[in-house]
Amino acid sequence: MINIYIYQDEPSKSVDIDRISQFLNTFKFETEIRDNLIDPADKDFSDYLGSIKIKDIEVPLDKRHNAETLIMPSQNSGEVRENFYDGFWLQRKLASYLYLNYPDEKTDDCLHIVLTGKLFGTFGTRRYHARVLLAGEPCLLSTSGIVEAPARPREYYFAKAKFLAEGMDLSELDDVFKGSFVEYDSPLITDILCSYILQLVRYRYTGEPFCSSDKCCMYNSHWQKDVLDLQYKKDMCVECSKILKI
Ligand SMILES: [Zn+2]
Repeated sequence: MINIYIYQDEPSKSVDIDRISQFLNTFKFETEIRDNLIDPADKDFSDYLGSIKIKDIEVPLDKRHNAETLIMPSQNSGEVRENFYDGFWLQRKLASYLYLNYPDEKTDDCLHIVLTGKLFGTFGTRRYHARVLLAGEPCLLSTSGIVEAPARPREYYFAKAKFLAEGMDLSELDDVFKGSFVEYDSPLITDILCSYILQLVRYRYTGEPFCSSDKCCMYNSHWQKDVLDLQYKKDMCVECSKILKI
């Protein structure tokens, strides 16, 4: 049996942490809800966050990242979001606080999960991609990632290009496609998070967070439609149920 420790790093306001705890308890996991690992007012942390913002989605943050390289304007600007962070560097910093505060909880029996409102990404072959989750120590699970990472319907992007070309207000676009994607502070996020937390547990047990069944809440959803169909409903295939020992 594993002990799950959940930390809250300013996730979406809609998150009902008690409901998440109750859900996890149905699996006989030991779950403990904790406050944030880091005081949001911590100056060292906020300075650090400033240094791991992704300035250019086509340029990976250097291993030896330093202020000098980060404040230089990129010659190769891609799409840039406000407050989009390098996930691995964020994870490393949180790990240092985790081990400082809970040095005895580095065992395989412990699964530390930080629910965060921060949007983070990882660098693929060519560019950064926003992520919902990042397994590791601690695991990161982003409520902003649920909104931003899985793609909206194809029609949305066609319409968006048209709206932009014609200088129209994009908020109207969101109204047109309302219901086809998860919104910030949506009440659906709590249930969706439950499925993603189970993916992290599955990863701990098997080394693989995702199930290949597109009927299962452990499926790796690349589309918002799948998140709304699978992660929100939390239905699980027999194999995954066995893995989690319901
Ligand atoms: Zn499954």
